Amino acid sequence: MMNVTESSKMVIAIGFEGSANKLGIGVMKNGKVLSNPRHTYVTPPGQGFLPRDTAKHHQEYALKVLNQAMEEAQIQPSDVDVICYTKGPGMGGPLVSTAVVARTVAQLWKKPIVAVNHCIGHIEMGRLITGAMNPTVLYVSGGNTQVISYSKQRYRIFGETIDIAVGNCLDRFARVLKLSNDPSPGYNIEQYAKKGKKFVELPYVVKGMDVSFSGLLSYIEEKAPTWIKNKEYTPEDLCFSLQETVFAMLVEITERTMSLCGSSEVLIVGGVGCNIRLQQMMDTMAKERGAKLFATDERFCIDNGAMIAYAGLLMYKTGYTTPLKDTGCTQRFRTDEVLVNWRD
Ligand code: MG
Repeated sequence: MMNVTESSKMVIAIGFEGSANKLGIGVMKNGKVLSNPRHTYVTPPGQGFLPRDTAKHHQEYALKVLNQAMEEAQIQPSDVDVICYTKGPGMGGPLVSTAVVARTVAQLWKKPIVAVNHCIGHIEMGRLITGAMNPTVLYVSGGNTQVISYSKQRYRIFGETIDIAVGNCLDRFARVLKLSNDPSPGYNIEQYAKKGKKFVELPYVVKGMDVSFSGLLSYIEEKAPTWIKNKEYTPEDLCFSLQETVFAMLVEITERTMSLCGSSEVLIVGGVGCNIRLQQMMDTMAKERGAKLFATDERFCIDNGAMIAYAGLLMYKTGYTTPLKDTGCTQRFRTDEVLVNWRD
């Protein structure tokens, strides 16, 4: 058990995140962000990021971003208490490339290491930044779509996608339209959606607490070229309609979870969580229930190193470290597998 002295002790943690196309390395000193640089692998329009190329990107930028993180934080290796890294979930190659750097640094600097669940990183960083105490969490990104609520030392999954993530659906539609991937395909879909005027009805697929996006994506992928060619709908109309549809699905399952759990707070995390329209729709739902919305901007919504450092720091403060032999990666790692013993 941790005592008061241990819990209030200043801990400096460095976190390595590389589960998708962002390489992020961040330094936390307890609840304070000392640095959080990130470098994103951006592919040409019409192309997604592939594991091998993304892994190469992370290898290429690892030392540059690490130096930046240490310089901005104004710390030396000797100041660091613990090295944290993303164990999963995510893409194999990019995860491994980043873990190798974290493991190497831990051994060179003779520091303990903590393997972190990426989703827990998002949740804890979201709670820290917004001050939400016990929110229902919507975690939405290119690789994940889950509605989560805390109960008895686990982040329990109440609803999720049964196929692709909502961010993957948006990213892949951006490829159909050949939108730029800079800064992200989702950002450019959002800008187009603002100019959309005509709503086209799309498949709305909510199954109990779960959602599905792959059929909806196939449908719009197939119809879009003809609709655009015949001037029935503009690309802007389609981005608008797609956003309205998928976000309504997400708000529906989030509301059902809030009702079930009696939540008065809702927190959106993950890259899609920066979307202002999603935040607006969630805010409307929350207000109608007398609840409050919490959201963050792109610095903390999008994958970053500080969130991994912070989740690792919370684990470290409970006395946990990961034995070196267990510092591998796993592409599948569910949010509810982690014992959350830093919360009551
Ligand atoms: Mg993420």
